[in-house]
Amino acid sequence: MINTVILESILTCPSCGYSQKETLPSDACLWFYECQGCHTLLKPKSGDCCVFCSYGNVPCPPIQLQQTFGGHAVLMLDSAY
Ligand SMILES: [Zn+2]
Repeated sequence: MINTVILESILTCPSCGYSQKETLPSDACLWFYECQGCHTLLKPKSGDCCVFCSYGNVPCPPIQLQQTFGGHAVLMLDSAY
């Protein structure tokens, strides 16, 4: 199986709806992101590791890899409780 990690994500601001394409940092999580539309400082929702996981159409690379390696099974277990 070939793992493809997408390194571009479109962030959508929750307060003004502005969408901005951003390049994902491949080795770090982005905690804060300033919206280019309304300049709100976005922070990850609780349980998310970075703003891309909360507001992007593509989660950050570590999460993408986790999903490839069975992260879905873990998530399904969690929701069963
Ligand atoms: Zn905004």
